[in-house]
Amino acid sequence: MTDLLVLGGVVVTAEGSTRADIAVEGGRIAAVEPDLEGLAASAREVVDASGLLVLPGVVDVHTHTRVATDERPDRFFDDSVAAAFGGTTSFLAFNNPGTGSSPAATRSLMTGLREWRASTASDSAVDVAPSLVVTASHEDPVAEIAAAIDAGVPTFKAFMVYDFGLDDALILRALEAAGRRGGMLQVHCENRAILEALTARHLAAGEIGPRFHASSRPPYVEAEATGRAIALARAARAPLFVVHLSSADALAQVRSARAEGLPVFAETCPVYLTLTEDRYAGDPEEAARYVISPPLRQAGHLGALWDGLADGDLSVVATDHVPDRVGVEKQSWRESFDRVSNGAPGIETLLSVVYDAGVASGRISVERMVDLLSTTPARLFGFASKGALAVGLDADIVLFDPSSRRTIRADDLHHSSDYTPFEGRVVRGAVRSTILRGSFVVRDGAFVGRRGFGRFVEREIERLA
Ligand code: MN
Ligand code: MN
Repeated sequence: MTDLLVLGGVVVTAEGSTRADIAVEGGRIAAVEPDLEGLAASAREVVDASGLLVLPGVVDVHTHTRVATDERPDRFFDDSVAAAFGGTTSFLAFNNPGTGSSPAATRSLMTGLREWRASTASDSAVDVAPSLVVTASHEDPVAEIAAAIDAGVPTFKAFMVYDFGLDDALILRALEAAGRRGGMLQVHCENRAILEALTARHLAAGEIGPRFHASSRPPYVEAEATGRAIALARAARAPLFVVHLSSADALAQVRSARAEGLPVFAETCPVYLTLTEDRYAGDPEEAARYVISPPLRQAGHLGALWDGLADGDLSVVATDHVPDRVGVEKQSWRESFDRVSNGAPGIETLLSVVYDAGVASGRISVERMVDLLSTTPARLFGFASKGALAVGLDADIVLFDPSSRRTIRADDLHHSSDYTPFEGRVVRGAVRSTILRGSFVVRDGAFVGRRGFGRFVEREIERLA
């Protein structure tokens, strides 16, 4: 029995686009064929997708969504709804300090995993999985990596900066432990000593506004650390995933590693592809919205990043979604730029911005976009049943109208933040409907999903090294 038929759309995969119909049974894709109209009479539901692109659901592998608390019981759910509106049917969440994790979670990976699962068990509208943050405050930062992989969490995050960051020796051990068991470490690459020195220099000169954020951590701060992480991964004989790559300088490090055949992968984010450090120049409260790390760069870097996406040296686009609010967390700009909560929201705007700035602007093909947003993140992060429109996989489907045009406004978004870095941006294309495992979550622009319909995804990744 066919539960759902999607007829007449252009089905896009990483390999190609073709006019095709899709049949869904039991939450999975049962057929993708040129003509399935013969099933229409017996299908439970038929959807006309003519004029639309039919895309696999987006897999966002970089979010700092925050779990529910007594004060804000809806924040995780709201961000999951926002994801669905943006065409994202699965997202990965870090449990770093500040996301609602308890102090116990920063001492034990498995405690953090149990806690995160309990907090989110019936809270999400789309499918979710955690990537556990390995911190310096863990009693033994490496001891539980194998157990976490066996529990279906094969990816981990380590920071080279911040109080909870790891030194090189621990990153090397974490890379080894993950790589040995078929896991992968994601690393935030910046040189902590240099950025702290440059920050101190600014502050000593009385340069305390958000406009000094970018110059406190210039591209070489990122490039050095990226090269160092690659060296550590080489020594560990382990795969490495470089998060939020923002500069041509860091990209050059990744490019030369990949040219050698090392299993090094890198992601960039919509903010780095579309915005420049000019955003720091004006009103400080406005500038604080863009205080993220790495910072926004000069315009010349944007073209290099698009080239990296087009030629394959960048493997993924993800959001680095942080649901900070201008009216709350970002108010720390009044103290000094180094106190501003780092991050910007983006969980709802990933597909919109990449389609507009990438596909509609002629920088990448729609097939490459699907590869960067769905297929490759699903493969690298072990979402085995996600990432493509193929028989047997979960029926995670986005109906996308390429002829539509809209203006991004925070007022129209559904996330738990109070702003968007893309305010006022006119984008070509719009998500019409989002389907998760055969069920509509967003239908014709309205939320029709259910809190708790989203599942925890147990993951296993293919050997990358
Ligand atoms: Mn980071
Ligand atoms: Mn991040």
